[in-house]
Amino acid sequence: MIRLDGVTKTYGGFGLAVDLELETEITAVIGPSGSGKSTLLEIISGFETPDSGAVFLNGRPLDGVSPEQRHIGMVFQRPTLFPHLSVRENIEYGATISDDEIRELCELLEIDELFEAKRSPETLSGGEKRRVSVARAIVTDPDALLLDEPTTGLDEPIRRRLKYELRRVLADLDIPCIYVTHDQNEASVVADSVVVMRDGTVLQQGSYQEMLESPRNEFVADFVGIENLIRGEIRELDSGRTVVDTGVAWVEPESTVLDAVAGSNSAVCIGILPESVTITQNTSVDGGRHTQTHPHRPEDMAINSINCTVERVIAERGSKTVFLDCGLPETFKAVVDTSVTVNQGDDVAVEFDGSDVVVVSR
Ligand code: ADP
Ligand code: MG
Repeated sequence: MIRLDGVTKTYGGFGLAVDLELETEITAVIGPSGSGKSTLLEIISGFETPDSGAVFLNGRPLDGVSPEQRHIGMVFQRPTLFPHLSVRENIEYGATISDDEIRELCELLEIDELFEAKRSPETLSGGEKRRVSVARAIVTDPDALLLDEPTTGLDEPIRRRLKYELRRVLADLDIPCIYVTHDQNEASVVADSVVVMRDGTVLQQGSYQEMLESPRNEFVADFVGIENLIRGEIRELDSGRTVVDTGVAWVEPESTVLDAVAGSNSAVCIGILPESVTITQNTSVDGGRHTQTHPHRPEDMAINSINCTVERVIAERGSKTVFLDCGLPETFKAVVDTSVTVNQGDDVAVEFDGSDVVVVSR
């Protein structure tokens, strides 16, 4: 287990302040550029010293321990291979696992041919270099493994494959692995749990599923891919139902979700995944414009349904992404089956289930 206890680090205007416990599993660290992800890894690996606080690996304090003595494997964002050594020599350098285990690892990472052919690192593609540097870190049999954006800058097909290969290889290691990425999809594929960072602090830690179901705030919701975020106010209806009034529709989430954020503040933000909505053609006389021009006529307000106009439809493999104008500044996004008939300019109703709505305070 890796533990960071009151760790701080200041660089000019940037300040990192982190308390974290990371189990023996794969943890993805996600967050925008400049949020302190690399700084976090550098402090754990010992390449940077914190201003205050302490780092522990399996209960052992790492204060004053040099990077080499920490037994932590590090894969830097820019792969660092010895240019004068062959791929094989690069991997075997510092290896403490058996030749058979090295071979097996190279097969898993699909670099076995490079290993056998004794190629020079200069002849490798970006993806191959990255996989060789992952192998190099793993063969030292580290007590923890840190990977800094290991797929950034790679071509899409390689990225797609590599994330599955990495999932398989890292899960077998049975040590704490930290996987820095700014891609939420990659985080969900590779990692068991996720840490979301912003401005040097941890906003939320938990499983990807937990963050989709109960993101702590708008930023986390947005970052894990809940793209439809709409601000509203909690309102008690005469009927006794409690809804979120978004101005263009009433949204009725499951009451447990509302209870969690209601109370002190009625200003909330609802979130709906683009995949959680259905689109139906709006055949009412006034079409979708009706509620948009009279958003404050409560008798017209639908529940868990928003009238929209289709702005754009983009056909993707296996689905259609539909961009919708629902009378709010933000465009609403729906991902629907290719069989759904929907065209630019259509007046439609977007419907969703209360159980698919998340609510965060703002
Ligand atoms: P991320 O990896 O999330 O993009 P970093 O940890 O690299 O973020 O950087 C966080 C902030 O700290 C940035 O503003 C960056 O400019 C600053 N920073 C990082 N390392 C140094 C350094 N060695 N010296 C000065 N500033 C640094
Ligand atoms: Mg970085």
